[in-house]
Amino acid sequence: MNRRYRKTIIAGNWKMNKTLSETRAFAEELKPLLGRPKWCEVVLCAPFVNLQAATRLFKDSRVSIAAENCHYESSGAYTGEVSAEMLKELGVKYVIIGHSERRQYYNETDFTVNKKVKAALEAGLRPIICVGESLEQRELGVTLELISYQVKCALAGVPAEKMRHVVFAYEPIWAIGTGKTATSAEAQEVCEHIRTIIRKLYGARVARSVTVQYGGSMNPKNAQELLAQPDIDGGLIGGASLKADQFVEIVNAANQD
Ligand code: PEP
Repeated sequence: MNRRYRKTIIAGNWKMNKTLSETRAFAEELKPLLGRPKWCEVVLCAPFVNLQAATRLFKDSRVSIAAENCHYESSGAYTGEVSAEMLKELGVKYVIIGHSERRQYYNETDFTVNKKVKAALEAGLRPIICVGESLEQRELGVTLELISYQVKCALAGVPAEKMRHVVFAYEPIWAIGTGKTATSAEAQEVCEHIRTIIRKLYGARVARSVTVQYGGSMNPKNAQELLAQPDIDGGLIGGASLKADQFVEIVNAANQD
């Protein structure tokens, strides 16, 4: 973390979990446990159908609400899809773009990721752009090249003045939902590399202001060590965000003086 230059963001990604009643129960449990985090922003990424309720439930708290995906067009004949504008009007602040599960199961490509990033920014949402390598790619030794490619594609056509709204999440695919975490050195190496690519594209001032999260089996036990790395500015947390007490422990790890 480097709080001098950029925001620390702890975001829970619920994926396809929690019904409306479970969302309400979670909010009731989380709010008193959370207090008022001083140093980090707390974000909950919820399924589309619960977003409206979630923005109301967390209205007077420091928790921001995020969607887990959006479409790249603002409206039109795209049955079943949801646009960034629709999310914005609900009070949603962030949107995950290019999560590996969407790349894997729904043919999300670096090209659609780029279109969605631009649509989100255009609508006034902050994209959390997910990048990461598979185990095979790591073993082949192409992780950093792949990350460079994903970051450059995601940002193609994004002007420098919009970069303060952009968040990256480095999520090694082999660490998501597997209980296998990247070591803090491995995670730091890639998060630093993401910042280097941003520096080459936009210069040092922009690069040092962008929040770069780590995601992949982050939990209360490993959070502190990961967050102590200079280029890891928070976490995107799946499994451990479904239990309020575990999620709060991770927020507390990011919130120490
Ligand atoms: C994720 O879904 O982005 C994620 C990192 O999941 P988990 O924490 O369960 O590995």
